[in-house]
Amino acid sequence: MTVLRTTKLESLKASRHINPLWGRSSTPAIFEIAFCATLVLLCPASFLIPWSALELCDGSIGKLLVRLGDMDGIYSIFNLAQESLPSVVAPMKIYGSWVVFQATLFIVLPGTTGYGETTPAGNRLWYKINGLLSWFLTIGVYILGALCSWWDADIVAKQWMGLMVAASTYGIVLTLLVYIKAHVTPSHSLDRKFSGSLFHDIFAGIELNPRIGDLDLKLFNIGRVGMTAWTIVNLSFAASQYQHFGYVCNGMIVVNILQSLYILDFFYQEDWYIGTIDIAHDHFGFYLAWGGAAWIPSMYTLQAQYLAHYPFNLSQTTALIILLVGVFGYWMFRASNHQRIVVRRTGGKCVIWGKKPVVITAHYTTSNGERHTSLLLCSGFWGIARHFNYIADLILAFAMCAPCGTRNVLPYAYFVYMTVLLIHRSIRDEDRCSKKYGKDWELYKARVPYALIPGIY
Ligand code: NDP
Repeated sequence: MTVLRTTKLESLKASRHINPLWGRSSTPAIFEIAFCATLVLLCPASFLIPWSALELCDGSIGKLLVRLGDMDGIYSIFNLAQESLPSVVAPMKIYGSWVVFQATLFIVLPGTTGYGETTPAGNRLWYKINGLLSWFLTIGVYILGALCSWWDADIVAKQWMGLMVAASTYGIVLTLLVYIKAHVTPSHSLDRKFSGSLFHDIFAGIELNPRIGDLDLKLFNIGRVGMTAWTIVNLSFAASQYQHFGYVCNGMIVVNILQSLYILDFFYQEDWYIGTIDIAHDHFGFYLAWGGAAWIPSMYTLQAQYLAHYPFNLSQTTALIILLVGVFGYWMFRASNHQRIVVRRTGGKCVIWGKKPVVITAHYTTSNGERHTSLLLCSGFWGIARHFNYIADLILAFAMCAPCGTRNVLPYAYFVYMTVLLIHRSIRDEDRCSKKYGKDWELYKARVPYALIPGIY
């Protein structure tokens, strides 16, 4: 219903449309374009790197590099990949059923209505919030299927190579589809960004929130296809460890608990997620289409994949300490994100750390020329650093990797990736907020001078 409303509104707005003052930059530098092209071309096969390291090199990236140094080594990887993928038909069918099942749940399950942030073109979109129910139902069906022998509990681990090929293919096809859709039948035409570069448009996306009917492609792809798969992949690799070794090590249990907590939170707070950068500001291209479909299930699950191959039992005390550090990181992650949301939702009429919140009323203009106001919180976690929620996330990310021990760096790839992602994200968010809020953002920076770590950065 709202899609129709915004479309009508758009035709009115088009007549007085001015260039967006904020939102993603529309003039990427040449090195950015080259970077985007490199990622689009190389990423689809990236899952082969951890897979080869796990299957052939004792989980060691160092050994993998040595093996890649001579032709025999490359052939052995190639041969094993071929053996592991006798046919793509079965995994394609499984993956196709997965996407259709998730889309069906997304559309038919009941839910509440959430509203996103105002977009640069002045649209405020509605979202059906039913992710939590969908997540529980999916896990329920997965367990029921395993109990009833419709499939094996380690089905994903067994079919890993084929499923990753299917996920990567789906991610590429979706990227191309949304690229074409953005030109031919955009959902909200004034919220498109054209960069003038094919590779940049494919990588970063053109449409902000593309939809097919009620199916919001971004929320669906990241949340249902990606985040829900994260849980199932983890459970399946835990089952695989049990199949091979006859037990599930406590490291695997800690990884599953912490990551499930993070994913459960994601769905429990789905109406919060629609206000985050992913949904509110990033356009939908390869980064989020292929990223949601293939990167999340392959890279975020590295710890479970690693432990399924090389179990690691922590002492009970170490396991408990890691669990507690992770829960502490999670608490700070949730509390900091919640503070920002509650201040915005209540218009500042709330209590942060026992006191009235300190806020800046910031002003911005949408591309239709309308002036809006928004609140910037300067107390609580948001008074410590401008992106303190990222530090909390990193503490949790480290705790998710630590149960794998210190034998190999491979399972720490998630922590390294999150560190790079969040530092880069803080830089681009600062840039966008500074364009959006102008001198109000400068005022905020004067009050809260550090971006991530007080006294350091
Ligand atoms: P935030 O939730 O921090 O949102 C940033 C936005 O909040 C800004 O663009 C601005 O948007 C608004 N804002 C900035 N400063 C303030 C303030 N002082 N008070 C109120 N609003 C403010 O960023 P993300 O969306 O990147 O991250 C959300 C969470 O998700 C983080 O904890 C992050 O760690 C996590 N995350 C996890 C990822 C994963 O793959 N596991 C990936 C990315 C993020 P506006 O224009 O509305 O003012």
